[in-house]
Amino acid sequence: MTISTVNPATGETVRKFTALSDGEIEVKLRRAVEAFVINRARSFSERAQRMNAAASILERRKDELGKLITTEMGKPVGAAIAEVQKCALVCRYYAENAERHLADEHVKTDAAESFIRYEPLGPVLAVMPWNFPFWQVFRFAAPALMAGNSGLLKHASNVPQSALAIEEVFRDAGFDAAEFQTLLIGADAVAGILDDDRVKAATLTGSEPAGASVASRAAKKIKKSVLELGGSDPFIVMPSANLDDAVATAVKARIVNNGQSCIAAKRFIVHKEIATEFERRFKEAMEALKVGDPMDESTQVGPLAMPQIVDDIDEQVRKSIAAGARLVTGGKRLGGNFYAPTILASIPESAPAFAEEIFGPVASLFVVGSEAEAIRLANATPFGLGSSVWTSDRAEAMRFVDGIEAGQVFVNAMVASDPRLPFGGIKHSGFGRELGEHGIREFVNIKTVVLAKAL
Ligand code: NAP
Repeated sequence: MTISTVNPATGETVRKFTALSDGEIEVKLRRAVEAFVINRARSFSERAQRMNAAASILERRKDELGKLITTEMGKPVGAAIAEVQKCALVCRYYAENAERHLADEHVKTDAAESFIRYEPLGPVLAVMPWNFPFWQVFRFAAPALMAGNSGLLKHASNVPQSALAIEEVFRDAGFDAAEFQTLLIGADAVAGILDDDRVKAATLTGSEPAGASVASRAAKKIKKSVLELGGSDPFIVMPSANLDDAVATAVKARIVNNGQSCIAAKRFIVHKEIATEFERRFKEAMEALKVGDPMDESTQVGPLAMPQIVDDIDEQVRKSIAAGARLVTGGKRLGGNFYAPTILASIPESAPAFAEEIFGPVASLFVVGSEAEAIRLANATPFGLGSSVWTSDRAEAMRFVDGIEAGQVFVNAMVASDPRLPFGGIKHSGFGRELGEHGIREFVNIKTVVLAKAL
């Protein structure tokens, strides 16, 4: 894939970049090690002062950076600006909490003294996707840098200007230029970097094939990796749920980021007692969405990020209908990269919409007769990222919490990441966690220290 900005709303090629040469990569790797030595030696408060400065820059530049995001990947501009603001939040969260999360932990044993110390690892490679081009990077970079590591970013090839802008934010915040570096490279250059002894660990957010490729390559060199992969999150609505809230949130949860979010609700599993009413209101709300220019603040659904995504989801919809699914609404291209908000129902197991991830504004609707059936269906995909359950019965909610195979269960709310809470998946959605205390402990050496006698 060429490294370039192509505006998905217009198809215009805005800017093209040349990939780094092997010699240029070598210089950046060398500097990443030097920068690690600098960052490691800094106190938490020195790192925090820079991280807070990064937050202030993001807040100050949010409109301009938001427009850049929209130009590169097409999300509605209001959401893009909100994404930049959320990045400031994660910077401030780790500026404030990293020292506490990584403080020595004393443990009582037979020795005079024993404790756990958390030490940084070195340069960490982050392979990132285009769908939240700032947020995905900052939720890696803020904890990794606060822990004392240095960061190397291989961003998706369609968001190079976002990648360069992020590097600039950290540099302007006072980090050494090499503490966080963007590598403008294609996916084919990742293996060589993972093989390099100077790179100590890797994280990838993206698709299953990319995750499997990066994790297996890292494993060959005995390096730790964290994977944040795809999802086909269930959104379960039980009879006691507040239907107004459930329908309004169902629409938001499906079309967030033009439908291209790992934690978007993708499969709507509705109890038969309320199924007809839910479908009627859901259809009405999906049909009322404003699809159009993502720079227009009133737009709710913009273009998909690349023509290939339109082809992919159109094929998934067509194949699902051919397999017997009923088209409730949408199911058509709207020209360019635009696709109509779509609902499919009565979906047989053989249809792609039953268990595959659909990365666009297409909802799969299922009707179930019981709680047990809802849980069985929720778990009937290879994924296990997020899930949302709608009920006013606490005991029922807790049975879903126990039964659903996922990294997160949200009750009466859509799934969303929060700097204070761990985020990640199980099954084919990946392993490891980002955010919260668990996230900052992924790229550290958990060092056990034992002093047999008091010194
Ligand atoms: P992708 O094609 O896997 O790309 C993600 C990143 O991996 C890009 O930087 C890409 O570079 C790189 N890449 C692709 N193949 C690679 C390989 N064989 N070796 C090394 N690097 C490789 O994914 P995407 O289409 O951009 O993103 C959509 C997927 O990401 C969806 O499945 C979505 O659910 C998932 N996602 C998950 C989370 C989460 O937190 N769990 C968050 C967001 C998205 P190029 O651009 O140069 O190909």
